Amino acid sequence: MRKNVAVLSIAITMAMAGGAGAAEMKRDSHVRPANQQGAALMAEAQEKSQSVRDLAATLDQSDLVAYVVTASRQPDAPESAIRFVGCSKAQRFVLVQISNETPPDRRIELLAHELQHAVEASRSTWVTDDYTLGTLFERIGWRDAARQRGYDTTAASLIERQVRRELVANAKQDR
Ligand SMILES: [Zn+2]
Repeated sequence: MRKNVAVLSIAITMAMAGGAGAAEMKRDSHVRPANQQGAALMAEAQEKSQSVRDLAATLDQSDLVAYVVTASRQPDAPESAIRFVGCSKAQRFVLVQISNETPPDRRIELLAHELQHAVEASRSTWVTDDYTLGTLFERIGWRDAARQRGYDTTAASLIERQVRRELVANAKQDR
């Protein structure tokens, strides 16, 4: 879990308004772009990575909706982050933020990493804000201070590596 409040507040407003590029996505998808680069990243990630497609399909079956935004990274901020946005009666909303200074393939790996966290949150119905999201990661993960990453989980690390393999396999096929 990572935070970047300045960028996130803008992104949340955009996300709640429906988000640029949202119309390009499957209408009831639970992974939704919150800006145009977010839409481009998601399109590329879903094209290249079975893991990303699986994570999106898992979230579609849940009450949790993940908005995806790519934005400039603040100094000392991590390359990617997930935070809670809010709840409606029927759904919970998180925001996944990816740095657009990060190389394209790495962005896809980080997207999968954060979507895995979204899936983890979706399985715990008591996660309803940033505080309880932090509590969840304290229980199932560990702090990764060296990489400025807040909390991490084994599943998120594994999915990141899996996506790297998928991207390498894709690149070989394209040659
Ligand atoms: Zn993480």
